[in-house]
Amino acid sequence: MKFMTDYLEQAQQQALYREVTTLEPVDAVHVRSDSRVYLNLASNNYLGLTHCPIVQQAASHAALTYGTGSGGARLITGNHAYYTKLEHELAAFKQTEGTVVFSTGYMANIGAISGLATQADVIFSDELNHASLIDGCRLAKARIVVYRHCDISHLAELMNTTPCQGNRMIITDGVFSMDGDIAPLPDLVKLAEQYKAILIVDDAHATGVIGPGGRGTTAHFGLEGKVQVQLGTLSKALGSEGGFVAGSRILIDYLINRARSFIFTTALSPATVAASCAALTRLKAQPALVATLQANALFTRQCLTKAGFAISQGITPIIPIPVGSAKLALAMAAELKSQGLLLSAIRPPTVQPGTSRLRLAVSAAHDQAELADAVCKITAVAQRFDIL
Ligand SMILES: *Cc1c(COP(=O)(O)O)cnc(C)c1O
Repeated sequence: MKFMTDYLEQAQQQALYREVTTLEPVDAVHVRSDSRVYLNLASNNYLGLTHCPIVQQAASHAALTYGTGSGGARLITGNHAYYTKLEHELAAFKQTEGTVVFSTGYMANIGAISGLATQADVIFSDELNHASLIDGCRLAKARIVVYRHCDISHLAELMNTTPCQGNRMIITDGVFSMDGDIAPLPDLVKLAEQYKAILIVDDAHATGVIGPGGRGTTAHFGLEGKVQVQLGTLSKALGSEGGFVAGSRILIDYLINRARSFIFTTALSPATVAASCAALTRLKAQPALVATLQANALFTRQCLTKAGFAISQGITPIIPIPVGSAKLALAMAAELKSQGLLLSAIRPPTVQPGTSRLRLAVSAAHDQAELADAVCKITAVAQRFDIL
């Protein structure tokens, strides 16, 4: 047991120790803990759809009709009717020939990458890609070449100098999960075409967030048909659970046959998949939700900039406030919590040492008065901790 206690003690000393806290959601953007209500600025519930009555009713109706669990893997007996509906509607939403739904975004990513890449292949991966993409690369037996964050000339140089017997693949987050910036997709598409590489884009934080109707990064840049593998999650803006891959029919059929995280796991429950269907229907019927989200993100970025923070402008709802040390990030998050704000202190190994940050995640369900008040509190705390 000593290696474990050693590890945990060291993590605690370095302010890297992690533990789960129990929260009771009050609505899409407020949570209760120890009988106190907090404004949630740490959730990926970008459109507030977790508490949309239509979505909630769809989930409870599905549980009452089909039962609580799917009872089996999708290729055995777990593929209930909501799956067919969801994959059909997701394909229409993404404007691709097909989609396949996995049990989580993490599983979609590791299954798709390890299913696609073989020993002869080379994967070019952005250094700030999400852990699930990194783990997918690790599971694949391909060679992995990491390029500097969003640095197209570095990527071009590496593609030029790295020999490859098999397929080349470029893998990137669409919207980066800890920085909130958008991948330079037009340039990545050009490079991919030049080297006949397969482009894989993870739109976990872009689905329901950017692009017309919230259709993601590919649609945002008008590059429909140019990105071979689009990954996404149903657990963030869509307020449910599950991950998906969107692309050609052949890609989908291939992954159904090859992705181990698709094959060897129990299908999602009817309630979960029905909630995703209803959320997607809601989003299609109410694209203004995306505009509200983007307006709230822009508003918050402007308030922070006015307060003196060095914040890049943009429309994504992920807003990092650079702090530096893990200890400081943790202390500031604790102080803000005591003032009723829930923000995440992002520390290594999620980000590089020395780049710890407070991460604000804005939702369409926030109201701007609450956001402005939160920025005031953050500003006062930042001044007290000497980072402003
Ligand atoms: C959250 C996230 C995932 C994982 O999705 P889950 O549905 O939570 O498993 C994958 N990629 C990125 C970029 C993410 O932020």
